[in-house]
Amino acid sequence: MQFDFDNTQRKEILETVFKKLENYYSRTKDFKTNPDLNIKEIRESILTKELTNGIIPEKAIDHVIKGLENFSVHTPHPKYFGLFNPRSNYAGIIADLITATYNPQLAAWSHAPFAVEVEELLIREFVDKFGYGKNADGVFATGGAEANLTALLCALNHKYPNFAKDGIFGLDKKPIVFCSVEAHHSIQKAAKIVGLGYNLVKPIPVTDDLKLDSDILQQELNKLDTSIFSPLMIIGTAGTTGTGTIDNLNQLNSICKKNNIWFHVDAAYGGGVILSRDLKYQLSGIEKSDSITFDAHKWMSVPMGTSIFLTSKNEILGRTFRITTEYMPKEADKLTVTEPFTHSIQWSRRFIGLKIYLSLLFYGWQGYEKTINNQTEMGNYLRKQLIKFGWIIKNNTNLPVVCFTIKEFENDINFTDKILNNILSNGKSWLSVYPIKGIPTFRACITNYNTTKKEIDELVDELNKEVTTYARQ
Ligand SMILES: *Cc1c(COP(=O)(O)O)cnc(C)c1O
Repeated sequence: MQFDFDNTQRKEILETVFKKLENYYSRTKDFKTNPDLNIKEIRESILTKELTNGIIPEKAIDHVIKGLENFSVHTPHPKYFGLFNPRSNYAGIIADLITATYNPQLAAWSHAPFAVEVEELLIREFVDKFGYGKNADGVFATGGAEANLTALLCALNHKYPNFAKDGIFGLDKKPIVFCSVEAHHSIQKAAKIVGLGYNLVKPIPVTDDLKLDSDILQQELNKLDTSIFSPLMIIGTAGTTGTGTIDNLNQLNSICKKNNIWFHVDAAYGGGVILSRDLKYQLSGIEKSDSITFDAHKWMSVPMGTSIFLTSKNEILGRTFRITTEYMPKEADKLTVTEPFTHSIQWSRRFIGLKIYLSLLFYGWQGYEKTINNQTEMGNYLRKQLIKFGWIIKNNTNLPVVCFTIKEFENDINFTDKILNNILSNGKSWLSVYPIKGIPTFRACITNYNTTKKEIDELVDELNKEVTTYARQ
């Protein structure tokens, strides 16, 4: 039994890993986009008795890589037209390796001052990009779900100064959270976690163009029984998960300001357009919000676990999360720094921000701008090709999320299911089906910086062939 390796062994291990990763990275398109979900076979493939004594590293690595290659939806595939899961960029991959090796502890500033200051700098950069003022603040989170939970906690602590102490038992009225029916369900989950219960989240219907209907929201506010309820927060979604729709942020902001309600923008995916000078007009109004969720592990193509929470209210993160203990390092007490553990849900913290920092050092903001413009263009190309071949587009967005069907089969419930099933079993492309106002549509999103017109032509071709076959039956 050996708990460490010597230099030669480490080199061999790393070379084994590198060869396999390089094979996957350079030939991702050769893989079947998705596995057969044979649960028996999958469970049997996982090693169990080997866990007692361990096996040689080469075998272990080979086993894990085969498992991932055989039994995963290949989200890095250029024909994964999926759910905002990107192909990790190379800087992000290297950043995760470096972070794991140095394993800096970002809970306390004095333990990892370089890492904490890098994250601080990035927060300032994003504050600036999203148009917040000097007083804004923010923190890295593991995902949009954590960032949305942070938003709810901040809204509660802002409105109820004793919330940190008394929790929901100190509330005189039941706080209500408004979002659209198309908003992400991490909001309901946040309400569950906080102890409000998801009944206090009120989903508002959407207009024909799938945006939160501000008139209905206003009516709901007017008829709220204010002896029992109090409006706490309105959430605008900037890029809904289903259809990539951006709510009317300026309208929602006016309603919030008039009624003294916290305005949160869930820009987990769509926030990416802020990095493009040509595209960021779509987020007009976001700069007036009280808080923002932005997932870098979506459009910024860094590996999972990278989200950013921003707030224009300077004091609120501290008020929400500050706690003091004797066992935490105190070296930073006299410096003007923020102790990350007093500022976020997490305590021990991984160097999440390095994935973005290294990506920026490799490609720059300019590289991101080009990539985001290009993916948007690929979305436009997909729409154009679909229309050319008789498909109709059912969502209205400039983001590369395209929901479509064929007019003739709109009311045929078998149409999308049958075709999706065939496409997934061929394993050449991955897409999903999403219902829009009761009509099932195919949903294809350009999530990959390597997706070109060629892959889009191939997808459209596959779809067209399936329709021809379907129509013949
Ligand atoms: C993906 C997404 C979330 C959830 O984020 P995670 O990173 O998966 O936790 C929240 N809101 C929207 C709009 C999303 O697209």
